[in-house]
Amino acid sequence: MESIRNSINDFNEAKQSIPGGVNSPVRAYGSVGGTPRFIKEAKGAYVIDEDNNSYIDFVQSYGPLILGHSHDVVVDAVQQAVTRGLSYGAPTELETTLAKEIISTCEGVEKVRLVSSGTEATMSAIRLARAFSGKDDIIKFEGCYHGHSDSLLVKAGSGLATFGETSSKGVIQDIAKHTFVAKYNNLDSVYECIKSSKNIGAIIIEPIAGNMGLVPAKKDFLQGLRDICDKENIVLIIDEVMSGFRASLKGSYPFYEVVGDLSTYGKVIGGGMPLAAFGGRAEIMDMLSPIGGVYQAGTLSGNPIAVTAGLATLAVIKQDSKIYQRLESLANRFANGFRDIANKHNIALQTNVRGSMVGFFFTEEPVYDWELAAKSNTKFYSKFHAGMLDRGVNFAPSQFETSFICSAFNEAIIDEVLEKINDTLAQIK
Ligand SMILES: *Cc1c(COP(=O)(O)O)cnc(C)c1O
Repeated sequence: MESIRNSINDFNEAKQSIPGGVNSPVRAYGSVGGTPRFIKEAKGAYVIDEDNNSYIDFVQSYGPLILGHSHDVVVDAVQQAVTRGLSYGAPTELETTLAKEIISTCEGVEKVRLVSSGTEATMSAIRLARAFSGKDDIIKFEGCYHGHSDSLLVKAGSGLATFGETSSKGVIQDIAKHTFVAKYNNLDSVYECIKSSKNIGAIIIEPIAGNMGLVPAKKDFLQGLRDICDKENIVLIIDEVMSGFRASLKGSYPFYEVVGDLSTYGKVIGGGMPLAAFGGRAEIMDMLSPIGGVYQAGTLSGNPIAVTAGLATLAVIKQDSKIYQRLESLANRFANGFRDIANKHNIALQTNVRGSMVGFFFTEEPVYDWELAAKSNTKFYSKFHAGMLDRGVNFAPSQFETSFICSAFNEAIIDEVLEKINDTLAQIK
């Protein structure tokens, strides 16, 4: 790497006026150390920093950019849209078009509402689920992330399957006590939560967990959850903010054939713009204001530019019938190659792949839940991250994020990355 002088200056400057210098914590490199690269532009598989260093990018804005950075079709559509106005605060035909796209693609979604972030989508889905079920308590799973609303910033209390403790200052215990924390891929812990709460109205889950590294649900587990929810009159919220239109066109559905009562979307459906959605059974969705009594709103909800970027992204995806197959085969090429190299260097490595999502963990045992993910050697990950950055490859600055394959990747890029992984592991082991 030539120099990162400008990023160092930019970071120092940013810290004067923005807490920690960033607008979302992971970007500050707190868990890996080093200086976050300040990005000035990006195209396809690459991001370029303020010192003109170029990086093959596995972050892809943490998931939205399935077509890679500034895809021509998306950029053209956005450029045309901005000439017609940036926001109206009135309904548009575009919003209905996107709603219909989501409804016709996603299982179990009969009606949908657009919002501006995944946080809003899950927060609103939980409010709706509480109203529909008439029950206050919810279950979330250890290691899953659903955005930063109060009910969800909760971690396991003393022992799992009890009500949680807040995982952020400023979230009051009176709210956290309504969130029970169960163990991922473990139905017994769900039964225990239901028994000890007696008032569970909703279960929210990432069907393909992507926020503790990539940890897919087991099929029996997700189907078991569906059965429990049916039996106990619990609203099942499948959070597909990351996996929707990403693991496959229908998100997690082809892997599990489990349908939520409500589902949440984000990331890919905004094509890189702030856009998310929640939807599901019409009888639940129709409880929303203005027809029902569940209030939910947004000044910029359904923003025409964001909707345009989403529609353009979906159009490109739908025109390319082999896209998910191609992305998954690149993801497997990467994961398999990485495992072979790690073996050669005697480094313990676990990998998980779901479509274009890849997780890798420096640990001895296969990873099914947060406890196993947390055994990963994060110090080694930090060295790996720095070594790869030095060689021009951008992985997320945390062991517990997912890596994303975009359609601008190809076999040559993956092989180049594998060679750099080999060099890095030889240097740091
Ligand atoms: C990213 C993410 C969210 C939060 O979305 P934001 O747009 O960052 O608020 C919620 N759920 C899952 C599964 C996510 O990956």
